[in-house]
Amino acid sequence: MASANANLFIVAAPSGAGKSSLISALLQRAQEGHLLNAAQLSVSHTTRLKREGEVNGEHYHYITVEQFTQMVLQEAFYEHAKVFENYYGTSRVAISDKLSQGIDVLLDIDWQGARQIKKINPEVVSIYILPPSKEELYVRLVSRGSDSDSVIDSRMQQAQQEMSHYTEFDYVIVNDNFTDALEQLITIVKSHSLGLAQQQVRHKDLLASLLKQ
Ligand code: 5GP
Repeated sequence: MASANANLFIVAAPSGAGKSSLISALLQRAQEGHLLNAAQLSVSHTTRLKREGEVNGEHYHYITVEQFTQMVLQEAFYEHAKVFENYYGTSRVAISDKLSQGIDVLLDIDWQGARQIKKINPEVVSIYILPPSKEELYVRLVSRGSDSDSVIDSRMQQAQQEMSHYTEFDYVIVNDNFTDALEQLITIVKSHSLGLAQQQVRHKDLLASLLKQ
């Protein structure tokens, strides 16, 4: 699943690495026209309950386990996985419509989904975001809310398990300084828009006129 001048990007990270903020900032830059292509985040389907402040259709499409199973049977998902006791999946239509319009698509998914997509689509560009240290990750997880020590400990363990898969990704960004990490993310996205096939589509008329005898 690809388009001549749009790319599919996977961005994965443990909880607390700052992935959501980096993705939001990247999308903002794209909206302001600072990237070569438009970019959008794919909205996944999930069986987990909606958290306070989340909006159906914006953060996720919230569905029941039965609906999820039905979509799996209909092969509606490009990838799907069980993450922390809930099911998550990326629908095929969410991606293909955008790519065919020349819009870069970002997938905020876990390592299991990334592995599935890489198998069927070697052109996908995968990026892993890491925290600058274990201590900083702990501080970020604690500052998220009023969770008990045991909840924080289990999140730290889940984070460690998730991070052990970083070697399966094409790029790694250490989110120590947010501005630097964002620039690095933008650099990766932009560089993948400058390939031969993409530039041939983008600059079709220019290339035809430059090479005209
Ligand atoms: P949360 O429930 O906190 O929003 O997300 C939990 C984890 O599920 C995150 O690591 C997120 O990237 C991952 N996730 C969200 N949507 C999908 C999806 O469609 N597929 C997969 N494989 N993982 C997802």
